[in-house]
Amino acid sequence: MDTPEDFDVLIVGAGISGLGAAYHLQQHCPGKRWLILESQAGYGGTWRMHRYPGIRSDSDLFTFGYGFKPWMGKPIATAQEILQYLGEVIDENGLAPHIRYRHAIRSAQWSSARHRWLIEAEQQGEDGRALGTVRVTAKFLWMCQGYYRHAEGYTPQWPGMERFDGRIVHPQTWPDDLALDGRKVVVIGSGATAATLIPAIAERCAHVTMLQRSPTFFITGRNANDLADMLRQLQIPDEWTHEIVRRKVLFDQAAFTRRCVAEPEVVRGELLAGVRAALGPGHEAEVEKHFNPRYRPWQQRIAFVPDADLFKCVREGKASVVTDQIESFEREGIRLQSGQVLDADVIVTATGFNLSVLGDIAFSIDDQPLDFARTVGWRGAMFSGVPNMAWVFGYFRASWTLRADLLGDFVCRLLQHMDARGAQVVTPTMRAEDHGMALRPWVDADNFNPGYIQRGVAQLPRQGDRQPWLHLQDYAVDKDELPRADLDDGTLVYG
Ligand SMILES: Cc1cc2nc3c(=O)[nH]c(=O)nc-3n(C[C@H](O)[C@H](O)[C@H](O)COP(=O)(O)OP(=O)(O)OC[C@H]3O[C@@H](n4cnc5c(N)ncnc54)[C@H](O)[C@@H]3O)c2cc1C
Repeated sequence: MDTPEDFDVLIVGAGISGLGAAYHLQQHCPGKRWLILESQAGYGGTWRMHRYPGIRSDSDLFTFGYGFKPWMGKPIATAQEILQYLGEVIDENGLAPHIRYRHAIRSAQWSSARHRWLIEAEQQGEDGRALGTVRVTAKFLWMCQGYYRHAEGYTPQWPGMERFDGRIVHPQTWPDDLALDGRKVVVIGSGATAATLIPAIAERCAHVTMLQRSPTFFITGRNANDLADMLRQLQIPDEWTHEIVRRKVLFDQAAFTRRCVAEPEVVRGELLAGVRAALGPGHEAEVEKHFNPRYRPWQQRIAFVPDADLFKCVREGKASVVTDQIESFEREGIRLQSGQVLDADVIVTATGFNLSVLGDIAFSIDDQPLDFARTVGWRGAMFSGVPNMAWVFGYFRASWTLRADLLGDFVCRLLQHMDARGAQVVTPTMRAEDHGMALRPWVDADNFNPGYIQRGVAQLPRQGDRQPWLHLQDYAVDKDELPRADLDDGTLVYG
């Protein structure tokens, strides 16, 4: 068998995180040989794969964009705009020759004898056919594979689904040939995806119904940032504008999060007042019934509705909201527990994701299968007992990219530190005083509890009760702690 090509760093995935990792490597570790393997046929991850009408960010791009590349557009961006921005990052930094598309990694085996990961990827042709297995070795694995299974979204099974006469589609695998003009559409779900999709299709459909089991918090506002507009008008350099607006957005978000915890009912009242104003007079009962969640603000991500477009559709009668449980699917639509039947030609299941912790890759260490659920996270960025691996998992409540950027700096600092020490291997390891510490789930259900996390929490690593074994999900703390994290505190063992 041929000797596999060898790299210093292998990055898994060419989404926002993987391209950010590549940028940081290029900037801070210019001598390293690195490669990105990506299973899709192009870059962008989430933003390439999701093609449902209206797809857009729900974070502002001043923080969802990278710290190193100014965002020049409106705060909320379409998938196309995000892809264009990522394309510019690739071009401006010469990343393209380092990315191999249509390479789906199936296994990664660590060898302590060789101080390397052996990675096996299935290469696919343009028609999706398997062309064979490609093997590479790498000293360090940088996992940027996102958090959900890309091939298929999560669709619960309801009785009678096979009876339904129309089409059932999941937004994650939106068909190109789906006819919606003049059709009755039921969208199951009320998260950001439903809120985005409905205004994008309501105009051409006969009617769209958002069917939810329970309400979601929404926040409305203009798709504009006054401070950015002012600084641009004053011809302040783009880099400054980007940085100033980022800081202002983060400052405002931190204040809002603090208020959600300190006075959740006041915040609830404000959010509902926003919905009430957006719906206009005559919709009072709907606000209470359909838009007042049981959970506290910020226990789940709050969906941003730019320019109140979802509520405009409801106000104008093009869309309506039903809060009920599904009894069964029928030929003509959905029967609800209340007895009501919702007629539908098309049913969209905006019901979320299947969690995929580490890209559905079979990992092993010296031939022993690796179960991440048995590991403890090191600041949420590495795993106890797993050598030479970093993992990017962004924030729930703030933009994902903020953490991808922080980890970019962190991993490069770690690699430089290893070089300075002459180390080949770094493994997070419990100190004597850490043994026996209380282990907790990766995320506290009272803190954050969306369905895909609840369904998948048993596959996730755990956390301890002290640093560096905590995964705080808090940018305000991470931005100070991660750059200063002591790499010689005894929890990182070098070899
Ligand atoms: C519709 C939608 C809207 C969202 N909006 C926001 C938002 O506004 N703000 C926010 O903060 N977050 C948002 N998110 C979360 C979003 O996924 C992240 O913010 C971000 O795009 C994740 O980037 P990533 O590169 O980490 O992962 P992904 O975008 O998931 O990219 C991972 C890449 O890794 C590849 N990959 C995975 N496994 C393998 C493997 N085994 N072999 C090879 N390649 C592999 C995948 O093909 C993919 O291209 C949204 C998510 C969705 C689905």
